[in-house]
Amino acid sequence: MRHFAVVGSGPAGFYTAEALVKAYGDQARIDIIDRYPVPYGLIRFGVAPDHQSLKAVSKRYDKVAEEDQVRFVGNIDIGEAVSMAELRDLYDAVVLATGAPHDRKLGIAGEDLPGVVGSAEFVGWYNGHPDFADLAPQLDGAHAAVVGNGNVALDCARILAKNHHEFEGSDIVGHALEALDRSAIRTITILGRRGPHQISMTPKELGELGHLEIATPEVEVADFPPIDADDALEPGHRKSITILRDFAARGADESKARRIVFDFFAKPLRIEGEGKAERIIVERTVLDDTGAALGTGETYTVPASLIITSIGYQTPRIPGVPYDERGGKFANDRGRIADGLYAVGWARRGPTGTIGTNRPDGYEVADQVAAAMPPGSDGGKRGAEGLAALLDERGIRSTSFDDWRAIEAAESAAARPGSPREKFVRHHEWLKVLGG
Ligand SMILES: Cc1cc2nc3c(=O)[nH]c(=O)nc-3n(C[C@H](O)[C@H](O)[C@H](O)COP(=O)(O)OP(=O)(O)OC[C@H]3O[C@@H](n4cnc5c(N)ncnc54)[C@H](O)[C@@H]3O)c2cc1C
Repeated sequence: MRHFAVVGSGPAGFYTAEALVKAYGDQARIDIIDRYPVPYGLIRFGVAPDHQSLKAVSKRYDKVAEEDQVRFVGNIDIGEAVSMAELRDLYDAVVLATGAPHDRKLGIAGEDLPGVVGSAEFVGWYNGHPDFADLAPQLDGAHAAVVGNGNVALDCARILAKNHHEFEGSDIVGHALEALDRSAIRTITILGRRGPHQISMTPKELGELGHLEIATPEVEVADFPPIDADDALEPGHRKSITILRDFAARGADESKARRIVFDFFAKPLRIEGEGKAERIIVERTVLDDTGAALGTGETYTVPASLIITSIGYQTPRIPGVPYDERGGKFANDRGRIADGLYAVGWARRGPTGTIGTNRPDGYEVADQVAAAMPPGSDGGKRGAEGLAALLDERGIRSTSFDDWRAIEAAESAAARPGSPREKFVRHHEWLKVLGG
């Protein structure tokens, strides 16, 4: 018998557990450990609340959790409640699937002013992440800016641009919906250092901006290279650029109250304001032959009392695990960190790709584990039994998959009309459901 710990219950963790079940059958026990009492990582706390069809992937993960060989062990922070050394002592292999939940910083003056938030914080706020429930983003000014040209930047802009009615059927948390209902924001500027061809936005997410009830996208025709240049693009990317070109050709719909302005070739230099963010000073850029953005020296001001930075994420360190400073992830070679220690998903690759991109990661690492410790072998580790004894000794209450089911049922019962659930956002709310 082999005992495996998968740390993190997001997509990468679940795909790894699925792959280990397939590789080992009944010859392994797999604990999926998460710091929160509830599973699914960014499926719960990241993916936009108005993208419910994507969240349905968790049904596939439920099937994995229901396998006899698999346990969900929530409410356990590895590195805090249990050290990496202790975990490695208890299990034959530990797979880190801890994601990359920390915002990268812009590194410019004024970034710490009130009103400036990272996208992980803002997204966490509207998605019911316990760490950001009290964020209270600045929604009382007329102007917001989102720095970054990826899908997360689009999510943030879209959430700011929608009216109450457009959140029907979503699971946006009540506190965010109430605050957004009172929002005074009318212009949302999306700043990108480079041009339309350099965006990391996918067609579906971009296309949605053309169908908002009270907001209209605005793109400058002059920002595009000649149309022939699109021929060299990969088809999906070309589709995104075609959507942007269409927005530019149509022009803004003046009947709509809110605008989403794409400001390309715009490099933030500093954020200014009297005790809080009021504006970003931006430098116009041009691209050099390698595609890098070069400052032109021409500067201008973008007013914004809410500034959301969305320029990438980093994996938090865990004591005892080698770290790749430049990549902002665990140092690894094709997922292997050391004997018996692996990384998958964003903790392995950094914050790129879709939910499905994490699947091959999990399978590749499961193959490596199975090669190192063939099914049928025994490592003499205590696994779940040893972890339970350690948690008991420390008075730590973990949550099981049945506990999650109880929380899920309570969230569904508390849902407002038209919403699939009312997410609980505090530890005590979760534990109250469990009689704690
Ligand atoms: C805002 C946002 C929106 C997105 N929208 C989409 C989308 O629409 N479509 C799409 O395909 N992809 C989307 N993605 C990408 C997708 O969410 C990621 O590809 C995926 O979640 C990465 O999976 P992961 O398992 O590596 O990390 P995560 O999903 O982040 O899971 C990591 C898990 O590890 C746990 N954890 C972390 N540290 C510890 C610790 N020390 N101890 C115990 N547990 C720990 C966390 O609580 C979490 O549950 C989005 C990403 C973001 C940020």
